Amino acid sequence: MAAISTLSRLNPLARQRIDTDMDIVIVGAGFSGLGMAIQLKEAGIDDVTIIERAAEVGGTWRDNHYPGAACDVASHLYSFSFEQNPNWSRAFGQQPEIFDYIKRTAAKYDLYRHIRFNTTITRAWFDETEGRWHAMTDTGEALTARVVISAVGALSDPAYPRIEGLETFQGKLMHTAAWDDNYDLAGKRVAVIGSGASAIQVVPEIQKAAARMTVFQRTPSWIMPKPDRPIPDKEQAEYAEHPFQLHKRRFRIYWMSELFAPFIISDRPFFKKRATRIAKSHMRKQVPDPTMRQTVTPGYAIGCKRILISNDWYPAIQADNAELIADGPARITANGIVTRDGREIEVDAIVCATGFKVPTKAAPFPVQGLGGRDLNTQWEDGAEAYKGVAVAGFPNLFFLMGPNTGPSHTSVLAFTEMQMEYIAKAIGHMARHRLKWLAVKKTVQDRFNRGIQKRMKHTSWTSGCTSWYLTDSGKNTTLYPGFNWEYRMRLWLFRSGEYDAKPMGRGAGAKTAASRRAA
Ligand SMILES: Cc1cc2nc3c(=O)[nH]c(=O)nc-3n(C[C@H](O)[C@H](O)[C@H](O)COP(=O)(O)OP(=O)(O)OC[C@H]3O[C@@H](n4cnc5c(N)ncnc54)[C@H](O)[C@@H]3O)c2cc1C
Repeated sequence: MAAISTLSRLNPLARQRIDTDMDIVIVGAGFSGLGMAIQLKEAGIDDVTIIERAAEVGGTWRDNHYPGAACDVASHLYSFSFEQNPNWSRAFGQQPEIFDYIKRTAAKYDLYRHIRFNTTITRAWFDETEGRWHAMTDTGEALTARVVISAVGALSDPAYPRIEGLETFQGKLMHTAAWDDNYDLAGKRVAVIGSGASAIQVVPEIQKAAARMTVFQRTPSWIMPKPDRPIPDKEQAEYAEHPFQLHKRRFRIYWMSELFAPFIISDRPFFKKRATRIAKSHMRKQVPDPTMRQTVTPGYAIGCKRILISNDWYPAIQADNAELIADGPARITANGIVTRDGREIEVDAIVCATGFKVPTKAAPFPVQGLGGRDLNTQWEDGAEAYKGVAVAGFPNLFFLMGPNTGPSHTSVLAFTEMQMEYIAKAIGHMARHRLKWLAVKKTVQDRFNRGIQKRMKHTSWTSGCTSWYLTDSGKNTTLYPGFNWEYRMRLWLFRSGEYDAKPMGRGAGAKTAASRRAA
């Protein structure tokens, strides 16, 4: 792998050794779980077990292999800062390349021996006396660990649309996140339900292959041009030979995204007007017909739902073999889809580009903390954590991509890498002070969340539309309402005064036979 490991030079963790025999379980082997394991290993902790419900690493990029799947943050930023890749073949890498990168990174850092595949954590509870987490797997096995880190992702469970008759359809039914690579689209009549982030990637590919394509648009999206391009071999060689150039490119992309953040996040007319102007100009260039333009113009303020980037969505839905229906289907029959005006369209395949079940309030699995408190109950009005990472009443449990840490304008990894470092610092603190457990103070968590929700009032996301960012009561528990640099500053230091801690008694925290088996 022609990638450059800069961990030792750039990451303070590489200089921080954590001297401990603590056993740590990470749930999930996507970008987050793998990155966390690398951080811990680099700090000298080897007793790390990753539990993964699937048979391979990669999470999102293992599961989303529909035609056209690609990242929408430039690859030089959407990759680990400590494992930069000079060989991205496009500015926005496609799924096979991203998936390969993740597998190669896992192999390079010797993570495969730490992973238990085909195992799902079904519940976990904390034993206060022992200072240990206990967990059950779907295979009926009991595990224990001093620290549990949830890296289960926010977009990992596909959501199918609730449409009458869906189960009666006799043709091929696929979700974009559960694509059948053996299904040949050539010459088929295909319906796509949805017009969001996955739809705008898969639709142009379906349109090229299928005989006929019908797209059921639920809500139009604001779409910006995608500054994608192939990266020539010469440029890749330059990045490989001169790592500084690679860092420079990443740095530039990072700060351009930060500069653009207010145009996406802020509800101020100054930013909204300018962002809308760019999106409308893109639409005017690509959609000459005014009636069609009206159909694809969103009726909500830009940024309220996710802004998408694409150069080929508008051309695809206007192609001769394509039809855009500006409404969801009325019902589905054995042979096709009935539109709301009563027309039955016969199709061979239905593609559900309908996104994911987003856990705005649900715990990743049933979790009981101090005094048997239940995380799902605690999160009934929407998930809350301290800096997205720790939850009061749930000691020695940390989250990656937890509540209010989703980015709207930059790479998820720019957030999660900081969380990994913060969690490692917390673990280092536990080790140095021989702590049985560590839990964030409720007052600290509440203050943090009051601040977050106050800022939320001035964001695009609360400007009046419904979206998967919001709970039923309209609370945004998914996104971070600010710049990434500012979030990074907040996580720079681990402040022990913000946490309640219990020192280790004699023999407490000792590994049990079950936990040793897990490792
Ligand atoms: C199509 C698509 C495109 C995207 N593009 C971008 C992009 O361009 N830029 C960006 O920043 N973000 C993007 N995202 C968001 C993306 O999800 C994150 O960037 C990142 O991949 C999340 O990594 P993760 O490890 O946190 O979660 P995931 O990749 O979802 O991994 C979670 C893992 O946990 C496992 N798991 C879940 N529950 C359990 C359990 N109970 N027991 C055991 N294992 C479990 C899952 O099988 C999975 O492997 C995209 C998402 C999608 C769906």
